[in-house]
Amino acid sequence: MLNNEADSSQGSGVSKKKGHLFVVSGPSGVGKTTLIERFLKEDSFSRFSISYTTRKQRASEVNGREYYFVDRDTFHKMITESHFLEWEEVHGQLYGTPQKEVLHALQQGIDLFLDIDVNGALKVKERYRNACLIFVEPRSQDDLMKRLALRGEKEISLRMKRVSQEMEKKYLFQYCIINDKLEVAYRDFFKIIEDVRREDNGKNHC
Ligand code: ADP
Ligand code: 5GP
Repeated sequence: MLNNEADSSQGSGVSKKKGHLFVVSGPSGVGKTTLIERFLKEDSFSRFSISYTTRKQRASEVNGREYYFVDRDTFHKMITESHFLEWEEVHGQLYGTPQKEVLHALQQGIDLFLDIDVNGALKVKERYRNACLIFVEPRSQDDLMKRLALRGEKEISLRMKRVSQEMEKKYLFQYCIINDKLEVAYRDFFKIIEDVRREDNGKNHC
Protein backbone atom coordinates (compact mmCIF):
# COMPACT_ATOMS: atom_id res chain seq x y z
CA MET A 1 0.00 0.00 0.00
CA LEU A 2 1.36 3.39 -0.90
CA ASN A 3 2.02 5.79 1.90
CA ASN A 4 -0.30 8.38 0.46
CA GLU A 5 -3.70 7.37 1.69
CA ALA A 6 -4.40 9.66 4.61
CA ASP A 7 -4.48 13.43 4.72
CA SER A 8 -1.29 14.79 6.17
CA SER A 9 -0.88 17.79 8.40
CA GLN A 10 2.95 17.80 8.02
CA GLY A 11 3.24 19.08 11.58
CA SER A 12 1.63 22.43 10.81
CA GLY A 13 -1.74 21.56 12.28
CA VAL A 14 -3.32 22.40 8.93
CA SER A 15 -4.62 19.41 7.04
CA LYS A 16 -3.62 19.44 3.38
CA LYS A 17 -6.12 17.80 1.06
CA LYS A 18 -4.74 15.15 -1.26
CA GLY A 19 -5.59 15.09 -4.94
CA HIS A 20 -7.83 12.41 -6.41
CA LEU A 21 -6.51 9.73 -8.68
CA PHE A 22 -8.82 9.06 -11.65
CA VAL A 23 -7.86 6.00 -13.67
CA VAL A 24 -9.50 5.86 -17.09
CA SER A 25 -9.41 2.58 -19.01
CA GLY A 26 -11.12 0.87 -21.90
CA PRO A 27 -10.29 -0.38 -25.37
CA SER A 28 -7.89 1.56 -27.53
CA GLY A 29 -9.83 4.05 -29.68
CA VAL A 30 -12.89 4.22 -27.42
CA GLY A 31 -12.37 7.91 -26.64
CA LYS A 32 -10.44 8.04 -23.35
CA THR A 33 -8.05 10.75 -24.54
CA THR A 34 -10.93 12.77 -25.98
CA LEU A 35 -12.81 12.77 -22.66
CA ILE A 36 -9.75 13.48 -20.50
CA GLU A 37 -8.43 16.26 -22.74
CA ARG A 38 -11.77 17.99 -22.78
CA PHE A 39 -12.03 17.85 -19.02
CA LEU A 40 -8.48 19.13 -18.50
CA LYS A 41 -9.14 22.12 -20.75
CA GLU A 42 -11.96 23.18 -18.45
CA ASP A 43 -10.39 22.34 -15.09
CA SER A 44 -7.29 23.90 -13.65
CA PHE A 45 -7.09 21.58 -10.61
CA SER A 46 -6.24 18.52 -12.68
CA ARG A 47 -3.34 17.14 -14.68
CA PHE A 48 -2.63 14.22 -16.97
CA SER A 49 -0.08 11.66 -15.86
CA ILE A 50 2.41 11.15 -18.68
CA SER A 51 3.40 7.51 -19.06
CA TYR A 52 6.59 6.03 -20.46
CA THR A 53 6.35 3.77 -23.50
CA THR A 54 8.51 1.83 -25.92
CA ARG A 55 6.01 2.22 -28.77
CA LYS A 56 6.86 4.40 -31.74
CA GLN A 57 5.91 8.05 -31.53
CA ARG A 58 3.01 9.03 -33.83
CA ALA A 59 3.43 12.01 -36.15
CA SER A 60 0.93 14.00 -34.09
CA GLU A 61 2.63 13.27 -30.76
CA VAL A 62 5.27 15.23 -28.87
CA ASN A 63 7.76 13.54 -26.55
CA GLY A 64 6.84 14.57 -23.00
CA ARG A 65 3.27 15.57 -23.89
CA GLU A 66 1.36 12.33 -24.70
CA TYR A 67 4.19 10.02 -23.53
CA TYR A 68 7.88 9.86 -22.78
CA PHE A 69 9.18 7.65 -25.58
CA VAL A 70 12.05 5.40 -24.51
CA ASP A 71 13.77 2.27 -25.84
CA ARG A 72 13.32 -1.17 -24.24
CA ASP A 73 16.68 -1.12 -22.45
CA THR A 74 15.84 2.17 -20.80
CA PHE A 75 12.37 0.90 -19.86
CA HIS A 76 13.81 -2.29 -18.31
CA LYS A 77 16.34 -0.24 -16.36
CA MET A 78 13.48 1.90 -15.04
CA ILE A 79 11.65 -1.27 -13.93
CA THR A 80 14.66 -2.46 -11.94
CA GLU A 81 14.95 0.99 -10.38
CA SER A 82 11.28 0.79 -9.21
CA HIS A 83 10.39 3.81 -11.28
CA PHE A 84 6.86 2.62 -12.04
CA LEU A 85 3.67 2.56 -10.01
CA GLU A 86 2.59 -0.09 -12.52
CA TRP A 87 3.68 -1.22 -15.95
CA GLU A 88 2.25 -3.56 -18.59
CA GLU A 89 2.92 -4.97 -22.00
CA VAL A 90 0.10 -3.83 -24.30
CA HIS A 91 -0.08 -4.68 -28.02
CA GLY A 92 3.55 -5.87 -27.81
CA GLN A 93 4.85 -2.60 -26.35
CA LEU A 94 5.73 -1.61 -22.80
CA TYR A 95 3.84 1.14 -20.98
CA GLY A 96 4.42 2.39 -17.43
CA THR A 97 3.09 4.98 -14.99
CA PRO A 98 5.82 6.94 -13.19
CA GLN A 99 5.39 6.56 -9.45
CA LYS A 100 7.16 9.63 -8.09
CA GLU A 101 5.32 12.09 -10.34
CA VAL A 102 1.93 10.61 -9.41
CA LEU A 103 2.55 10.75 -5.67
CA HIS A 104 4.01 14.24 -5.89
CA ALA A 105 0.96 15.59 -7.74
CA LEU A 106 -1.48 13.96 -5.30
CA GLN A 107 0.44 15.34 -2.36
CA GLN A 108 0.19 18.80 -3.90
CA GLY A 109 -3.61 18.39 -3.95
CA ILE A 110 -3.72 18.05 -7.74
CA ASP A 111 -6.27 15.65 -9.23
CA LEU A 112 -4.53 13.32 -11.61
CA PHE A 113 -5.84 11.43 -14.66
CA LEU A 114 -4.27 8.18 -15.82
CA ASP A 115 -5.14 6.74 -19.23
CA ILE A 116 -3.93 3.17 -18.84
CA ASP A 117 -4.97 -0.36 -19.78
CA VAL A 118 -7.35 -2.43 -17.63
CA ASN A 119 -4.64 -4.59 -16.00
CA GLY A 120 -2.61 -1.54 -15.11
CA ALA A 121 -5.72 0.11 -13.65
CA LEU A 122 -6.41 -2.87 -11.41
CA LYS A 123 -2.80 -2.86 -10.21
CA VAL A 124 -3.10 0.83 -9.34
CA LYS A 125 -6.26 0.09 -7.34
CA GLU A 126 -4.43 -2.62 -5.37
CA ARG A 127 -1.70 -0.17 -4.40
CA TYR A 128 -3.83 2.93 -3.99
CA ARG A 129 -7.27 2.00 -2.73
CA ASN A 130 -8.75 5.48 -3.12
CA ALA A 131 -8.13 5.48 -6.86
CA CYS A 132 -11.34 5.97 -8.84
CA LEU A 133 -11.54 3.50 -11.73
CA ILE A 134 -13.60 4.56 -14.75
CA PHE A 135 -14.16 2.18 -17.65
CA VAL A 136 -15.09 3.65 -21.04
CA GLU A 137 -16.78 1.27 -23.44
CA PRO A 138 -17.90 1.56 -27.07
CA ARG A 139 -21.48 1.07 -28.26
CA SER A 140 -20.21 -1.72 -30.53
CA GLN A 141 -16.99 -3.20 -31.84
CA ASP A 142 -17.89 -1.77 -35.26
CA ASP A 143 -17.92 1.74 -33.80
CA LEU A 144 -14.55 1.10 -32.24
CA MET A 145 -13.01 -0.03 -35.54
CA LYS A 146 -14.34 3.09 -37.25
CA ARG A 147 -12.78 5.30 -34.58
CA LEU A 148 -9.42 3.61 -34.83
CA ALA A 149 -9.54 4.15 -38.59
CA LEU A 150 -10.54 7.78 -38.06
CA ARG A 151 -7.46 8.26 -35.90
CA GLY A 152 -5.35 6.82 -38.72
CA GLU A 153 -4.39 3.82 -36.57
CA LYS A 154 -2.24 1.34 -38.54
CA GLU A 155 -2.57 -1.62 -36.17
CA ILE A 156 -6.35 -1.93 -35.99
CA SER A 157 -6.57 -5.73 -35.88
CA LEU A 158 -3.89 -5.93 -33.16
CA ARG A 159 -5.90 -3.50 -31.05
CA MET A 160 -9.24 -5.24 -31.73
CA LYS A 161 -7.83 -8.58 -30.51
CA ARG A 162 -7.67 -7.28 -26.94
CA VAL A 163 -11.18 -5.84 -26.79
CA SER A 164 -13.09 -8.83 -25.38
CA GLN A 165 -10.39 -9.42 -22.73
CA GLU A 166 -10.72 -5.78 -21.68
CA MET A 167 -14.52 -5.82 -21.69
CA GLU A 168 -14.56 -8.87 -19.37
CA LYS A 169 -12.87 -6.80 -16.66
CA LYS A 170 -15.17 -3.80 -16.75
CA TYR A 171 -17.17 -5.18 -13.80
CA LEU A 172 -14.14 -4.62 -11.59
CA PHE A 173 -14.36 -0.88 -12.19
CA GLN A 174 -16.35 1.57 -10.03
CA TYR A 175 -17.87 3.39 -12.98
CA CYS A 176 -18.69 2.54 -16.60
CA ILE A 177 -19.45 5.02 -19.36
CA ILE A 178 -20.67 4.17 -22.85
CA ASN A 179 -19.06 6.55 -25.29
CA ASP A 180 -21.63 6.62 -28.08
CA LYS A 181 -22.74 10.24 -28.33
CA LEU A 182 -19.78 12.25 -27.14
CA GLU A 183 -21.90 14.90 -25.39
CA VAL A 184 -23.71 12.28 -23.31
CA ALA A 185 -20.49 10.45 -22.46
CA TYR A 186 -18.79 13.68 -21.46
CA ARG A 187 -21.70 14.67 -19.23
CA ASP A 188 -21.45 11.26 -17.47
CA PHE A 189 -17.69 11.60 -17.15
CA PHE A 190 -17.99 15.11 -15.70
CA LYS A 191 -20.62 13.99 -13.21
CA ILE A 192 -18.49 11.13 -11.91
CA ILE A 193 -15.61 13.51 -11.23
CA GLU A 194 -17.91 16.02 -9.51
CA ASP A 195 -19.46 13.27 -7.37
CA VAL A 196 -16.10 11.87 -6.30
CA ARG A 197 -14.81 15.33 -5.43
CA ARG A 198 -17.95 16.15 -3.44
CA GLU A 199 -17.90 12.93 -1.46
CA ASP A 200 -14.30 13.40 -0.51
CA ASN A 201 -14.92 14.05 3.16
CA GLY A 202 -13.63 10.68 4.26
CA LYS A 203 -16.41 8.94 2.36
CA ASN A 204 -14.94 8.36 -1.05
CA HIS A 205 -17.22 6.64 -3.56
CA CYS A 206 -14.31 4.59 -4.89
P1 ADP B 1 -8.43 6.43 -26.91
O1 ADP B 1 -7.70 7.50 -26.17
O2 ADP B 1 -9.41 5.70 -26.06
O3 ADP B 1 -7.51 5.49 -27.63
P2 ADP B 1 -9.29 8.63 -28.64
O4 ADP B 1 -9.77 9.62 -27.64
O5 ADP B 1 -7.95 8.86 -29.28
O6 ADP B 1 -9.32 7.14 -28.04
O7 ADP B 1 -10.42 8.53 -29.77
C1 ADP B 1 -10.25 7.78 -30.97
C2 ADP B 1 -10.94 8.50 -32.11
O8 ADP B 1 -12.36 8.48 -31.91
C3 ADP B 1 -10.54 9.97 -32.24
O9 ADP B 1 -10.44 10.26 -33.61
C4 ADP B 1 -11.71 10.71 -31.58
O10 ADP B 1 -11.86 12.00 -32.11
C5 ADP B 1 -12.89 9.81 -31.93
N1 ADP B 1 -14.00 9.86 -30.95
C6 ADP B 1 -13.94 9.88 -29.60
N2 ADP B 1 -15.16 9.86 -29.04
C7 ADP B 1 -16.06 9.82 -30.08
C8 ADP B 1 -17.50 9.79 -30.15
N3 ADP B 1 -18.28 9.75 -29.07
N4 ADP B 1 -18.04 9.74 -31.38
C9 ADP B 1 -17.27 9.73 -32.50
N5 ADP B 1 -15.90 9.78 -32.51
C10 ADP B 1 -15.30 9.82 -31.30
P1 5GP C 1 -1.75 3.83 -27.28
O1 5GP C 1 -0.56 3.12 -27.88
O2 5GP C 1 -2.99 3.73 -28.14
O3 5GP C 1 -1.43 5.24 -26.87
O4 5GP C 1 -2.10 3.08 -25.92
C1 5GP C 1 -2.35 1.69 -25.94
C2 5GP C 1 -2.88 1.26 -24.59
O5 5GP C 1 -1.89 1.44 -23.58
C3 5GP C 1 -4.10 2.05 -24.13
O6 5GP C 1 -5.04 1.13 -23.61
C4 5GP C 1 -3.57 2.93 -23.03
O7 5GP C 1 -4.57 3.20 -22.08
C5 5GP C 1 -2.50 2.02 -22.45
N1 5GP C 1 -1.49 2.73 -21.65
C6 5GP C 1 -0.97 3.95 -21.86
N2 5GP C 1 -0.09 4.27 -20.88
C7 5GP C 1 -0.09 3.23 -20.01
C8 5GP C 1 0.59 2.97 -18.77
O8 5GP C 1 1.38 3.75 -18.25
N3 5GP C 1 0.34 1.77 -18.17
C9 5GP C 1 -0.53 0.86 -18.71
N4 5GP C 1 -0.74 -0.26 -18.02
N5 5GP C 1 -1.18 1.07 -19.85
C10 5GP C 1 -0.96 2.25 -20.51
